[in-house]
Amino acid sequence: MSSKSSGKLVIVAGPSGTGKTTIVRHLLSVFPRLAFSISACSRPKRVNERDGEDYYFLSQEEFKNKIKENQFLEWEEVYPGSFYGTLRTEVERLWKAGRHIVFDIDVKGALNLKTHFPKESITIFIQPPSVDVLMQRLRDRNTETPGILEQRIGKANLELSYAPQFDKMVYNIELDKAFKETDAIVSDFLGDK
Ligand code: 5GP
Repeated sequence: MSSKSSGKLVIVAGPSGTGKTTIVRHLLSVFPRLAFSISACSRPKRVNERDGEDYYFLSQEEFKNKIKENQFLEWEEVYPGSFYGTLRTEVERLWKAGRHIVFDIDVKGALNLKTHFPKESITIFIQPPSVDVLMQRLRDRNTETPGILEQRIGKANLELSYAPQFDKMVYNIELDKAFKETDAIVSDFLGDK
């Protein structure tokens, strides 16, 4: 894939429950040239989700075939049996449309993506106010079964250890402040809106 496009990549990551999805949605409302990278994933669709908007929902077999065909820029088995990845065609589609791209992906995927596009990317780690608050948020969210909740708590602890490898860090203690800080980082990086 050509890296000569003028499109830039804003890669937002952090443990589940830090508010990164809310921050990504906010960025999309503030920066009109920014478009959301729709990932492919193999987990079941939740009731409020739409195929081709939230994710491209694939069966595990379809996902694995695309891995074999080298169709992903990065992919991770984020939770056992649940695969998530960024399709090359998704980045091409959005760059062709003249857009900058924002990603809501896991920490390993974020760092991998940056290795493909070191100059065009910025990685932003969203930190929770504290580990206790994060655990409570995960419980309150309650979109998952108890077994999956435990998995997510374990994964969140691991993800926190990757924070120092990111370009920027934003603490989501008060959402308005986190929005402002992220806006400033992205505005500075994009150099335009
Ligand atoms: P959820 O199942 O809650 O939508 O997402 C689970 C995790 O997968 C989140 O941390 C989300 O950011 C991450 N994720 C979503 N898309 C991708 C992707 O394309 N690549 C990677 N590596 N992680 C992703």
